[in-house]
Amino acid sequence: MARVLIAGAGIGGLAAAGCLLLAGHEVELYEQAPELGEVGAGIQQSANATHVLRRLGVLDALEERAFRPPVTEFRLFDSGEVLQALALAATHEERHGAPYLQLHRADYHAVLAARVEALKPGCVRLGATVTGFREDAGSVTLHLAGRSRVAGDVLIGADGIKSAVRRQIAGENRPRYTGDSAWRSIVPVERLPAGFLEGKSSIWVGPGKHAVVYFLRGGALLNFVGAVELEERIEESWTQKRPWKELRADFEGWHPDMLRIVDAADRESCFRWALNVHPHLPRWSTGRVALLGDAAHPMLPYAAQGAAMAVEDAAVLARALDEAGSVPGALALYEAHRKPRARRVVEESRDNRRLFHLPDEDALRAAFAERDMDRERSDWLYSYNPLTADLS
Ligand SMILES: Cc1cc2nc3c(=O)[nH]c(=O)nc-3n(C[C@H](O)[C@H](O)[C@H](O)COP(=O)(O)OP(=O)(O)OC[C@H]3O[C@@H](n4cnc5c(N)ncnc54)[C@H](O)[C@@H]3O)c2cc1C
Repeated sequence: MARVLIAGAGIGGLAAAGCLLLAGHEVELYEQAPELGEVGAGIQQSANATHVLRRLGVLDALEERAFRPPVTEFRLFDSGEVLQALALAATHEERHGAPYLQLHRADYHAVLAARVEALKPGCVRLGATVTGFREDAGSVTLHLAGRSRVAGDVLIGADGIKSAVRRQIAGENRPRYTGDSAWRSIVPVERLPAGFLEGKSSIWVGPGKHAVVYFLRGGALLNFVGAVELEERIEESWTQKRPWKELRADFEGWHPDMLRIVDAADRESCFRWALNVHPHLPRWSTGRVALLGDAAHPMLPYAAQGAAMAVEDAAVLARALDEAGSVPGALALYEAHRKPRARRVVEESRDNRRLFHLPDEDALRAAFAERDMDRERSDWLYSYNPLTADLS
């Protein structure tokens, strides 16, 4: 069994820790933040990730806190006309063998962190900033701010889009602004009309912007994300507040249901942040060090798959360490299997930007008429199971 060091205790790092601990490895996580936590926003997880959450033993706890939407509808921004729908709830579970969940990020992160703590108490070191590593044929040494060093057999860089581990593997590969920024707000449903949107999840598509709307915590909260094309480059931060009237102006002329949500949002807590990616990496790993999650493959959130890919990575990494005869062999197997799939999802997410932001109703209607999103996503995206996929 290997001694595995993980940089970063976000969803990816925690999922990796859980999978590796269950496989019998010795695991330690190093997280720069002084406390564990996630921001107040929603997150969706489809079957390709929830298979792993079941294996980790956290699915029941998450389902108690989740919302299971009947459907996601793609709708025109002004008239609300439904262009396409993805069947979720029972249909998703029957097709793929695991549920589709919509979660509050804080709940998701807390449940994962509690599970990791139960599997190995004290394995998350807080206030521990990773600055780099040194590797030789037999081990890897993690460097932490304050000059301390920790030795292990494997290092996993799950330290997000600004990854220090990636910098050393792939050189200065700076994140770049995609041209889109995202508003986020969570609204208690009692501020909205009874039976609002019938519990459906929806993606409202329009010229140069789109809005994603779905319920959380058994339907008590409504999550709103408004993705807008914005030339001005703003800071990449989940906690940057902007004036509510800018949010209102961005969605002027949109369907009354969208404006109801915007009008019900807390005026003092409208957040907007820049969406960044970086170019595809030529490699994700060296002999004893590998990247995972946003450190390896940040993407636009337009297929709702960034964290799901991190969870897939975690499951495949644990399997590769089990199946290969050596650490370098395992990391090479992990990279070879994960890279093409992650790349496809990055590109699908990028292509959705063009599709969702077409310049008028006719162009949007015509483009959606050529697609069958329900079949497409079922065929290759949601149907993948990282616990059973062939790694050879
Ligand atoms: C608007 C929006 C909506 C989204 N919706 C969805 C969705 O519905 N479904 C989905 O699957 N994904 C979604 N995503 C994507 C998802 O949020 C990310 O892909 C996911 O959170 C990445 O997890 P991670 O653990 O790889 O990285 P992160 O969450 O960035 O975690 C990295 C961790 O590493 C720590 N860290 C960083 N640097 C260091 C260091 N030097 N030393 C130690 N620790 C360090 C950080 O503090 C952090 O805790 C969305 C993203 C956005 C922006």
